[in-house]
Amino acid sequence: MSNILVVLETREGALRPASLEAVGAARTLADARGSSVIAFAPEQCEIDAALLGAAGADEVLVSDAAQHSADGAAAAAAKLATEKSCDVVLLSATVRGRDVTPRIAALLDTGFAADCVAMDASTMIFTRPVYAGKALLQVKVSGSTTVASLRPNFFSPAGREASAEVSSVSCEAGKGLVTAVSAATGGRPDVAEANRVVSGGRGLGSAENWTLLEALADALPGAALGASRAVVDSGWRPHSEQVGQTGKTVAPELYIAVGISGAIQHLAGMNSSKVIVAINKDANAPIFQHASYGIVGDLNEILPVLTEELRKIEQ
Ligand SMILES: Cc1cc2nc3c(=O)[nH]c(=O)nc-3n(C[C@H](O)[C@H](O)[C@H](O)COP(=O)(O)OP(=O)(O)OC[C@H]3O[C@@H](n4cnc5c(N)ncnc54)[C@H](O)[C@@H]3O)c2cc1C
Repeated sequence: MSNILVVLETREGALRPASLEAVGAARTLADARGSSVIAFAPEQCEIDAALLGAAGADEVLVSDAAQHSADGAAAAAAKLATEKSCDVVLLSATVRGRDVTPRIAALLDTGFAADCVAMDASTMIFTRPVYAGKALLQVKVSGSTTVASLRPNFFSPAGREASAEVSSVSCEAGKGLVTAVSAATGGRPDVAEANRVVSGGRGLGSAENWTLLEALADALPGAALGASRAVVDSGWRPHSEQVGQTGKTVAPELYIAVGISGAIQHLAGMNSSKVIVAINKDANAPIFQHASYGIVGDLNEILPVLTEELRKIEQ
């Protein structure tokens, strides 16, 4: 029986939440087929066997590689997929996952389905949004191995009571090594991983006005800051915070869009958020058509009041 390989992603030695979602998706497939889920960490890291077992992994292999390397991770994953008789390889569609996924497919001489938001375990058909989310494409890989990357926040860890068996595996070092990663988010969570996102647009008027958004984010524990492309292009915020078609895709519990008009390219990155709150002085701004709650007014007046009220609730 063919198994399923999940390539995990770690940051500073810790597993990223999206990897647990990929393991959960693999579990769904494995249960439908009666096979095993093998999780592979391509760099040295601390593994919580109970956490990965609960997410859906039967076995965890941890590489002895000291640093991340996209070509090294892909070569090791392709080798393991063959050795462990895996006909499905899953990754997260993160920035790093997008780098590694096509390399694995090329090494296995197969195709891949990128950035998937759903999959049918019985037909192995994956669904991925295209044209900024305006259409959904159904993809089936015809090669002997199916490689796919899964968009974060669209799949869930299995949540079962089981522990995974952990062992180490020796892997050849890659050619391109990542020697350092520096966080540019000022201690806040990554916008793609946070459960709450406070996002600002051109309506903020200047980089200095971001203090208003920061205060709002501070009043919401665990909140990340996001931005529209107009803001990033103006140099007010870093690209790492950009949400949308050419930025990051987010699907938090709460997305607060402040001074953002709601262009299709921005919506493509946040339209799957559970609750969307829009603050805009233009009652006809397109963002209101997608918002769960809308506040029409000047953000300079609304934000201080909203922040104060949220602080009271959190206290
Ligand atoms: C190929 C391509 C890719 C793109 N990718 C992305 C992407 O990834 N992400 C992205 O965001 N965009 C992207 N864009 C750009 C997108 O089309 C929009 O131009 C951009 O999203 C607009 O940003 P904005 O909403 O901040 O600005 P605007 O559209 O200028 O909207 C500003 C809003 O602020 C409101 N406002 C102004 N002052 C106040 C105030 N005092 N109080 C309250 N509200 C106020 C206005 O009413 C307005 O609705 C892309 C475009 C292209 C062509």
